[in-house]
Amino acid sequence: MANLKAPKSILVTLRQKLCCGCGICQAVCPAGAIKMQIDPQKGIYLPKLNEALCQNCGKCLKACPGTGINLDEYTESLFGGKSPFLIKNSCYTAFSSDSLQRHLSTSGGIATTLLAYALETGLIDGALVSIAPPFSPLTPTGFIARTAEELKQAAGSKYCPVAANTAISEIAARPGRYAVAGLPCHIQAIRKAERQNPVLQERIVLHLGIVCSSTMSFKGTEYILKKQGINKDSVTSLSYRTNGWPGNMRLETCGGTTLRLPLKAYHPYHGHGFFTPRRCLICNDQLNELADISLGDAWLKELENDHEGTSAVIVRGSTGQGFYQSAVKNGCIKSQPLAAKRVMEWRNKRQDYAAKKAVLPLLGWKLPEYPAPHPPARRIAYLYTIEQVINYHLGRTNSSLIIEPAKHFWTGLSGLAERLIGKRASRG
Ligand SMILES: Cc1cc2nc3c(=O)[nH]c(=O)nc-3n(C[C@H](O)[C@H](O)[C@H](O)COP(=O)(O)OP(=O)(O)OC[C@H]3O[C@@H](n4cnc5c(N)ncnc54)[C@H](O)[C@@H]3O)c2cc1C
Ligand code: SF4
Ligand code: SF4
Ligand code: SF4
Repeated sequence: MANLKAPKSILVTLRQKLCCGCGICQAVCPAGAIKMQIDPQKGIYLPKLNEALCQNCGKCLKACPGTGINLDEYTESLFGGKSPFLIKNSCYTAFSSDSLQRHLSTSGGIATTLLAYALETGLIDGALVSIAPPFSPLTPTGFIARTAEELKQAAGSKYCPVAANTAISEIAARPGRYAVAGLPCHIQAIRKAERQNPVLQERIVLHLGIVCSSTMSFKGTEYILKKQGINKDSVTSLSYRTNGWPGNMRLETCGGTTLRLPLKAYHPYHGHGFFTPRRCLICNDQLNELADISLGDAWLKELENDHEGTSAVIVRGSTGQGFYQSAVKNGCIKSQPLAAKRVMEWRNKRQDYAAKKAVLPLLGWKLPEYPAPHPPARRIAYLYTIEQVINYHLGRTNSSLIIEPAKHFWTGLSGLAERLIGKRASRG
């Protein structure tokens, strides 16, 4: 890296193709030298660095989650323990007592309800959420919600890149107490930034983490719309998963068309890696391990007939526990204990990381530094790694003549694996 003009900057991350597009570098740069932009070829956010303004201070790189993180060291220092022991008695299934919110949210509406409760009780003045503005319905952005109505508008999973830069800048600029809701890479970025910025550390009092196996590039959404004969420029609103569980994609166009697409009709483009950003393929944090409270779908056998939605919840540390138990007591959410073992069954991204470490460097991929140990991977994880790399390259052709047959092939192979080895074929 010696030949880089700003060797302490995020040029290091970009050179190694490790950027996840979180946006924290723009928020922490004191010189205004970084601007997040959508790369139209890749369909992801990437930072653009103005070398003339950069002072090579290193703040952006220190906060950058792209190059890696020692999750165990952070969980020890934040919560006093390491996963999985940390979460032994602190997993739950839960849903919002507000039945409309539960129906409109992605899982149990827990993220939105907990944030609304934090606002209502005065714990926070605002919450970082992601919202798709009416003028730009396909490119949601980080936003500080300050009312219950704004929180409702931000509900629902966005299976596309979301950069949190301007919202984090707002937290740094405007005094108050804040919650943040974000994917594991967002929460890692915020935790790293808090270590070097006491103002952020003091103002951010609650970290809600969304569980994440991967996201989809903007190209993925565009491909799905094109397959449905929808011109992306005509879309006026888009929810990826709403109206019950597991929910439908729902979109409206300016021509008056309303499209509802079941999750299973579009999930293969996402799940098999056709439009997965490269950095997601080498990410090892599925459960959002640095969040006070993590929220995912409760993919449990006993809940498969629950069509309204239930969230799986992991609570860490005294801040998370104190807040969560007070919300349960208040009655705004309904919660049941869940054995941690059941949650760990989905934790395959970190458990299977050894397969990525073995395969991807052989293909010339640089991996992030994750010093925490990775156990031996399942054999099927090697197949999934190869599948994802192949599909990553096929997806970049954007051609349905290539993607459709490959999608059918991998869907068939996954179905066969599930029939032969059952739950052990799970992707997490
Ligand atoms: C890209 C992605 C991948 C996911 N992968 C998995 C998975 O593999 N397994 C699993 O169990 N669950 C996964 N989830 C989580 C799941 O879809 C729900 O978001 C979660 O269960 C919370 O549901 P809820 O009803 O409690 O939240 P809601 O009440 O619907 O609120 C969701 C909150 O998350 C915020 N948010 C939504 N999308 C994003 C985003 N892209 N970036 C930052 N913030 C966002 C919203 O602003 C809102 O505040 C994923 C979510 C996303 C966005
Ligand atoms: S001035 Fe500092 S924070 Fe900004 S880009 Fe340069 S090294 Fe990064
Ligand atoms: S991962 Fe985040 S902080 Fe690092 S370069 Fe990319 S956008 Fe910036
Ligand atoms: S897999 Fe999820 S948490 Fe990891 S880099 Fe991708 S979007 Fe971020």
